[in-house]
Amino acid sequence: MKINYFDIHSHLESSRFEEDREDVISRMKDEGVFTIAIGTDLENSKKVVRLADKYENIFASIGLHPTDTNEDFNETDYAELVKNLKVVAIGECGLEFSRLGEDSEGDPKSLEMIGQERQRQIDIFKKQIDFAVKYDKPLMIHCRDAHFEAINILTEKKEQYGAGLRGDIHFFSGDVDIAQAYLDLGFTMSFTGVLTFTKDYDEVVRFIPLERIMSETDAPYVAPVPYRGQRCEPSYVEEAVKKIAEIKGLDYEIVKKAMVENAVRFFGIKNS
Ligand SMILES: [Zn+2]
Repeated sequence: MKINYFDIHSHLESSRFEEDREDVISRMKDEGVFTIAIGTDLENSKKVVRLADKYENIFASIGLHPTDTNEDFNETDYAELVKNLKVVAIGECGLEFSRLGEDSEGDPKSLEMIGQERQRQIDIFKKQIDFAVKYDKPLMIHCRDAHFEAINILTEKKEQYGAGLRGDIHFFSGDVDIAQAYLDLGFTMSFTGVLTFTKDYDEVVRFIPLERIMSETDAPYVAPVPYRGQRCEPSYVEEAVKKIAEIKGLDYEIVKKAMVENAVRFFGIKNS
């Protein structure tokens, strides 16, 4: 199957695809769209591996989201899953500090509780970094309002692991200086269809070299123009690719090809 587009981050296991997942995947096949289905806890990491086993154009990433779950990262559970040849990354893992100060009801948390939550996220992130290096997989990183901490942790781990530590910052939300820090670490950054309705990321998209950028949807979230407000699906990744080309002032076909080549190279995709 020829790869025309690579959506490196989608939540195809989401219940929002329960009714018509087969249709969504068949639209992907029609357009040559490949994706990495992302796990956010143990249960849906198992689900994405099953999806990847079933469909040629789906790969899997397994791991623990910083806030979607309170589970701990148990290496033994994930060691079983990581043996599957279609598991190409670890995550999404990382740090989510944007709502650190509030509990689930939106009430302010005590400083002690904030400190505990930060430490909990940092601990499970570090465990997943060690795990990814051990099994020679790149990290799929979620990072919001925590780039300073993430860069510190990754820099420290990089000194320990060198080239064995690699990863992508999914839904990149930082500025040019932050992007430079990730580039120095050898990391890539990926962008969603959010580019089609805000100019906030134009400067950083122009700044990052084409070979260090990847395309994604984060489906079912953030549907691009002209699908805004609807459920997003991996086939809409085309809109993000178009926008990256437009922002960078490059030929669409060149960017389209680069997005596929980058994903294939970075995740070690073997297309049968
Ligand atoms: Zn995600």
